Order: sequence, then structure tokens, then C-alpha cells
Amino acid sequence: MVINEQAIDFAVFGEGEEAFVEILKRIENKKKEFKNRIPNTFYKSETGKVIKGPGVNFCQNLDSFPFYDHEIWKEYLNPYKFYSIAVSRGCPNKCTYCFNNFYSEIPENPTNYLRFRSVDNVINELLQVKNKHDIKYIDFIDDSFTVKKEWLKKFLQKYKRLIDLPFRCLVDSKYMDKEIAYQLKESGCKWVQMGVQTLDSEYKKNKLNRHETKKQIVSAIKLMKENEIKLQLDHMLALPDEPITAQKKALEFYKKMTPDRIQTFWTTYLPGTALVKKEYRKGKLSDKELEEINLGKKYYLHRRSDNKNKNKIYRKHQLAFRMIPVLPDFIRKKIRPDIVEKTPVTVFNPFLFIIDLFNGLFSKNPDFLSYSDYYLSQIKRIIKKKAVWTPPYQKIEYSSILSAYRCLEDNRFDEWEYLWNPIFSTACFFYFFSEIFGSFFIFFVGTSFVYSSD
Ligand code: SF4
Repeated sequence: MVINEQAIDFAVFGEGEEAFVEILKRIENKKKEFKNRIPNTFYKSETGKVIKGPGVNFCQNLDSFPFYDHEIWKEYLNPYKFYSIAVSRGCPNKCTYCFNNFYSEIPENPTNYLRFRSVDNVINELLQVKNKHDIKYIDFIDDSFTVKKEWLKKFLQKYKRLIDLPFRCLVDSKYMDKEIAYQLKESGCKWVQMGVQTLDSEYKKNKLNRHETKKQIVSAIKLMKENEIKLQLDHMLALPDEPITAQKKALEFYKKMTPDRIQTFWTTYLPGTALVKKEYRKGKLSDKELEEINLGKKYYLHRRSDNKNKNKIYRKHQLAFRMIPVLPDFIRKKIRPDIVEKTPVTVFNPFLFIIDLFNGLFSKNPDFLSYSDYYLSQIKRIIKKKAVWTPPYQKIEYSSILSAYRCLEDNRFDEWEYLWNPIFSTACFFYFFSEIFGSFFIFFVGTSFVYSSD
């Protein structure tokens, strides 16, 4: 669909290294026709006809790529203080809402999607940046860092010996045991992030194609606690057809197995995923909605009007899940589903932001530390360059103050550059007012409510 836009000449799908070189050659030669089609690319011929190149297989030798060049970000932020790095590509799972479920099938004859760099290749990159820059934290951004146990063991031993910096990684409860947890701790792991998404086991297996069991999740949480590694759990809201009772199950679960942070994500409809295709087949998505999803125009479909009551329940649970890790034990135990359901939804979202901020900063969550660092560097940059807000580069689509307010509620902070817009700036005023007022209100009223309902 993107290639149909007049201004677009090439659109790459899948991994782009091979495609990009071919595109550059084509531009350099000023030639529109090529004997061989450009791999993993949609492009236009001399006559304007859209051509699709073949989906070529995934590069199996990740060591053949140069190290990622972080220097290009230097003008905007310090890319080295919190250094992010991937040791692999791909994921062993194919969750229905995730891009991995179709991405792995892009090649015409797909083989081996999950690939790892060699231990030495990763260590060499880290040594190179460590010797040049003042790195404080390493962020391993791989979808599943602990999948290959032997690789991990070898890597963590070298990492401890040669790099020895605190780090965070993403783990999968299916690939976690005593030995892995201990090795993570010994080599400097401070935080892990782990997907739970839903506590309805049947729904999880049948609709999301996720196969970790509750037992595996419990065991992974216990192992992280035993090894004093901080844990963030990811939980999804508004999954299509998920029984609303799943939120109550989740509430009870998180009360008992409380992590250091529960990150909630509203279900996002990504183009091409099995989830979107299924919803369309079932008639839950119209042709227009599917087109908008594919064009990247619409993805927050949890806001559908026919789902308003359910959304309120999700919003109340979102607040409860974010609060659970920061509450003292004796208050946490008193939270019951009926209390959550009586929480006033109007003051809910502002409080959420404040809780998250305090929890993130006090628990030294790397996301919050790096975000603070980023925003501070932006302020410094603006002062130094005497810069003003970036002028708008696209049409403002806010039809009302309410729609702009909702964008703020969704934490879509990329919209800040529209601050000059009267609709958006009015929404900002109300948002901050309700944030401060809501925080005080819910703190005093909510706390007394918890006590009086005992
Ligand atoms: S485990 Fe995570 S990264 Fe892998 S397919 Fe599922 S959601 Fe995607």
C-alpha cells in the first residue's frame, strides 16, 4: 500500500541489508529497469507499474554485518550511556498479535529465523564502545535473550570477565531455570522484562498462540526474586474476545506474585498479523478499518464505541496493576475486584502516570533512567541552540479537545510537537490540571476507601 503513494519509489519489506545495497546501485545508475528484481522490495518500473521483488532468505551469518553505528544519534542524545545492543535476530515464538508471526515467513523458502551472533562478535562490539565511551548500562533488546542456554553460558562468562557492566534483558519464562537465573545475576543483570500478557491460560494458548504455562511464569518470578533481579511483567489490555474475568484472575495473581513493575499495553493491531487477519475474517473489522490498519492510520481499536463498558474495566485494572508493585504489602492484600471496579475512572489516568514515574525512578528502571536522561539532554539542547519547538510537518488531525486529550492519555508523546496548536495546547492544560488534581484526590480518597471497605 505504501508503494502506491506518489512520493514513494521503493518500499522494503523484511530484512533490508541486501535490498538497500541494490536500491543504492539502482539510484546511482539512474536506471529504472533491472534484469533481476530487487530482493525484499516493492518498487515502480519505468511505466509506473509496481513490481514486487522476491522474498530472500534471512542472512545466517550475523557476524558479517558491521557493528551498529550509534554515532548518528549523537546530535540528539547520548547513545552510549545506556547502550542498546542485539545479540540475535528473530524469536522462537509466533504470538498472533506480533510481527514475528508473519515476518519469519517473508522469504519464499524460509529457513532458520532465529539466529545468534557469535559470542566473540558481541563481546568485541562491547569492548570497542566500552573503551571509547563512558557506558553506564547495557540494554539487550533481543526478543528472547535466554533461548540458547549454551550460548548464553559462554557469553555471560566472557561478559563478566571483559565487560562487567550492569544490564537489562528480555526473558521468556519457558527458557528460564535455576542455572540461567544464577548466571544472569552473577554477570550483572539488574532488570529483566518478561511477557505474561494474559492470565487466562486457555485464551493465551488458543488465541494468542503463546505456550508458556502459569507454572513456568510462577517459577521464573520466584527465581528472579531469589536472585534479587528486578522484574517487569508485560500485561496486555483489551485483547479481542478475551473474557473480562481474565482481569480479575490477573489481579489475584499479581497480588501474590508481585513483580517490581507491571507494564500494561493496550492491544495494537499491527498490519499483517494473524490476529488482524482473523478479526477481519470474523467480520469484526470492516474493509475500511483493515485498510486504515494497513496504512498505519488506525491501530488503537480498543477505543471502539461498542466496547466502552469493557474499556472502563480495563482502565480500572490498568490502574490497579500499576499500583500493585508500589503499595505496601498490607494495603496490596486489601485490593479486591469490587474495589477496583468502584474506582472513579475519570481521575484514573493522570494518577497512573505519576505512579509509574515514581516507581520507575525509585526502582532505577533503565527505561525511566534513560528517558530522564533523554529529556534532560533535549532541554539542554534547546537551551544551547536557543531552539524552538519543531514546526509541524503534517496536517493536524485533532477534531476536538477530547481527541487531543486522548492522545495525551495514551502517552503518545511524539505528538508534543503540536503544542503550538490551540486545540492541543488546551488539551495539555486540562491534562496537567487533572493530573495534579487527580493525584491528590485519588491518594486521599482512594486510601480511605481501601481502609473503610475492609
Ligand atoms: S515472544 Fe514476544 S517477540 Fe516473540 S513472537 Fe511473542 S510477542 Fe513477539
